[in-house]
Amino acid sequence: MLKWTSTNDCRSPLAWSGLEWPLITLKSRTSSTPSHRRPTTRAAASTSYGAEGNRSMGVPGEDLAGVYSAKDFVGWYNGLPSCRELSPDLSCETAVVLGQGNVALDVARILLCPLDILKSTDITQLALEALAESKVRRVLIVGRRGPVQVACTIKELREMVNLPDTRPEMVAADFEGVQEAVNDLPRPRKRLTELMLKTAMEVPGEKEQERRKKASRVWGFRFFRSPVEVLSDPDHKRTAGIRLAINMLEGSGESARAVLTGEVEDVTCGLVISSIGYKSLPIDASVPFDSHRAIVPNIMGRVQQATGLYCSGWLKTGPTGVIATTMNNSFDTARSVVEDMDSRRLDVSAGKPGSQSISALLDERGVKPVLFSDWEKIDALETRRGEAIGKPREKLLTVEEMLLEARK
Ligand SMILES: Cc1cc2nc3c(=O)[nH]c(=O)nc-3n(C[C@H](O)[C@H](O)[C@H](O)COP(=O)(O)OP(=O)(O)OC[C@H]3O[C@@H](n4cnc5c(N)ncnc54)[C@H](O)[C@@H]3O)c2cc1C
Repeated sequence: MLKWTSTNDCRSPLAWSGLEWPLITLKSRTSSTPSHRRPTTRAAASTSYGAEGNRSMGVPGEDLAGVYSAKDFVGWYNGLPSCRELSPDLSCETAVVLGQGNVALDVARILLCPLDILKSTDITQLALEALAESKVRRVLIVGRRGPVQVACTIKELREMVNLPDTRPEMVAADFEGVQEAVNDLPRPRKRLTELMLKTAMEVPGEKEQERRKKASRVWGFRFFRSPVEVLSDPDHKRTAGIRLAINMLEGSGESARAVLTGEVEDVTCGLVISSIGYKSLPIDASVPFDSHRAIVPNIMGRVQQATGLYCSGWLKTGPTGVIATTMNNSFDTARSVVEDMDSRRLDVSAGKPGSQSISALLDERGVKPVLFSDWEKIDALETRRGEAIGKPREKLLTVEEMLLEARK
């Protein structure tokens, strides 16, 4: 997440196209006029509102103080207005992150990152101050399956391995049989597993040994473990630990299943961050939604039972993959639209008013959209505020402040 500004700069495509694009759109979850119900405005519409919900653990104790979803925690250090008040309690020594995907690694890195490095990122000042007081020195990243099934990518793992002032703490027994299996793995998985094996099992060179000896913070994967219960302190108020079921694998490779052994293990910790997945939410009763898979049901981006409606992004695929994966998937949706135009499945014969009618609708409803040029004002202010304190930007943390700047 630290590199977010460089990987997700939304400026260029819009600037190139010269468009004035309403950044705050007219769709709200409570309104009942999705664009595809207005066939007079467009021949086709695509919905791609992402995955804003998160999966809950569904275990006792999940509501105790000291338990957070990664979605909220990430939102907090990235300056999402709705997460501004989170104030996570970082007064404990050990934190447990549940899940072993890229987001889990992002969270672990933020918790352990030396302050000097964080200071030069666009992390919010609020989070920086809280992290400066943090007592967290050890982060365990827990997954229900084994090293061959972790969901993170090699880039994220490498950043974790190389994080200054930290050293890895793994359990050698978790890697039994992994060395033997590694050669049969597909290439990206093979490289990821090799890095994990090297980090966990190899005696490092002298320089690395020296670095690890000096490190004041520790991180480690804990495999074959599923959360059973968040344990409370004697007052039943705060998190004091987590009970983990010990699993074994049935099958092998990426499709292996975690099966309970019946044994459990308690880990003492004061902070639990659950990073077991984001999920899309239904937006409107008229847009088909598969609640089981938490996606809009589609074939190659064509929403089922809604001609003219398409979907893309995590709403289409579920919350997996990086921006490049999402982008390629969205190209497939665009290809479906073009195919449907060519095959006349979509009626494009009559001219449709398109964005003009959207502007009229906004007017009709008294909605003043934030245009791209308005966003540029917010961007400029954030950048100026950041420059003054040696950061790429200092974000505005409330919608009110953003609108105030946008309307200037
Ligand atoms: C914590 C985290 C860290 C990540 N880090 C990286 C990384 O470093 N590199 C990388 O390549 N990938 C990263 N990813 C993955 C990347 O974010 C996704 O692949 C990508 O954002 C998915 O695109 P999307 O369009 O489906 O959703 P989003 O990018 O989330 O876009 C959905 C948009 O819809 C808007 N929206 C939601 N509801 C409504 C509504 N009702 N009306 C109008 N608009 C609405 C949202 O505000 C949002 O702007 C990360 C993901 C997470 C969760």
